[in-house]
Amino acid sequence: MSALQPVRGTRDLLPEESRRHRRVVETAERVAELYGYEEIATPIFEFTEVFKRTLGDTSDIVTKEMYTFTDRGGDLLTLRPEATAGIMRALISGGLAQHLPLKFFCAGPMFRYERPQKGRYRQFHQIDIELLGVPEPLGDVEVIAVGAHILEALGVLGKTTLELNTLGDAESRAAYRAALIDYLGKHLGELSAESRTRLERNPLRVLDSKDEADKRIVAAAPIFFDYLKASLATLGIGYRLNPRIVRGLDYYCHTVFEFTTNELGAQGAVLAGGRYDGLAETMGGPSTASVGWAGGIERLAMLAGEVPAALRPIAVIPVGQAAEHTALEIARDLRHRGIAVELGFHGNVSRRMKRANKVNARIAILLGDNELARKAASLRDLDTGAQSEVALDTLVDRLAAER
Ligand code: ATP
Ligand code: MG
Repeated sequence: MSALQPVRGTRDLLPEESRRHRRVVETAERVAELYGYEEIATPIFEFTEVFKRTLGDTSDIVTKEMYTFTDRGGDLLTLRPEATAGIMRALISGGLAQHLPLKFFCAGPMFRYERPQKGRYRQFHQIDIELLGVPEPLGDVEVIAVGAHILEALGVLGKTTLELNTLGDAESRAAYRAALIDYLGKHLGELSAESRTRLERNPLRVLDSKDEADKRIVAAAPIFFDYLKASLATLGIGYRLNPRIVRGLDYYCHTVFEFTTNELGAQGAVLAGGRYDGLAETMGGPSTASVGWAGGIERLAMLAGEVPAALRPIAVIPVGQAAEHTALEIARDLRHRGIAVELGFHGNVSRRMKRANKVNARIAILLGDNELARKAASLRDLDTGAQSEVALDTLVDRLAAER
């Protein structure tokens, strides 16, 4: 039997890597909260139908990337390849639609059977934002702004480009037509006679009227994509129009976007999403115009580069067995005051000092027989080497105060 290996495309997140991931998730969550997005956690597996129906039979994910299995009860299940479908399922099965609009943040592992390479894994992690029940372009503006804000807070916004495209669709054109009739109707008195006639027969033709007064009115007409672009400009969020951004899933309409980077080789997309107004209905739910995105945590962590430092503990070191109980008490009290403590399990003083340095302790508290007899401990600053004696009954207060 060969040595056990992790499954191809999966990785262990050792503590350093876990800290990088945690920083991405915590930063995203904190920023998302500023915009009113609250955390939702849906199951990691769903009935396969949930993904088949939403992602579309022709999408890469459904045709070749899903981890699908039959469980012991005979149900056909799939490990979630992305978060939106599960959240929409929750909206419908949980009867949440009566509370629209809803703003959700989620984070967690996703599973896709892909060819593994740097920045592309079979189990990977995403942060995800969904804004449900908002048909206005202001919704698209907000979710893009949350994304840009998170990238900025991670210090990577400058390494990315926002690529933007609009797909349009029959439905959005109909919605646009209705908005246009509504708008032009309010300016009926100012329109030329010709445009008034056109408004009834084919309102879109008013847009290319040559009449000067008509042109002024048309210039301010609500055009979904123009409104989006103007709002991003107001917020100072730069973008590049790219008609090749179409996204891999069937459910997108209207706005699609990707924050991309040149710094991760072939895996250039770090955060991507768009509008999916028709999705809830294809799942048998109520019509719920929605927009959202997902960001790859591995790629964001790689882009951010730096590794957040671990907590620096205080090492409590009993010198000899008699001091062990005092050490236990001090460690307990410090931890209850919110101070991290490294309390060795074994070894003489020099081994325990080595361990204190290895875990990057900032202070060592040595509990020797002589000190204990005086009800005191010696405190050594491991950065400066400075050493002093402190009375045991003031020790915890003093360390808590200087933190
Ligand atoms: P790609 O074009 O790189 O395959 P995608 O369009 O399939 O990306 P989405 O479904 O939009 O990706 O997922 C959103 C984000 O999740 C991506 O921008 C990327 O950062 C990340 N991501 C997607 N698939 C993987 C994967 N297999 N491993 C790591 N991160 C991934
Ligand atoms: Mg993909």
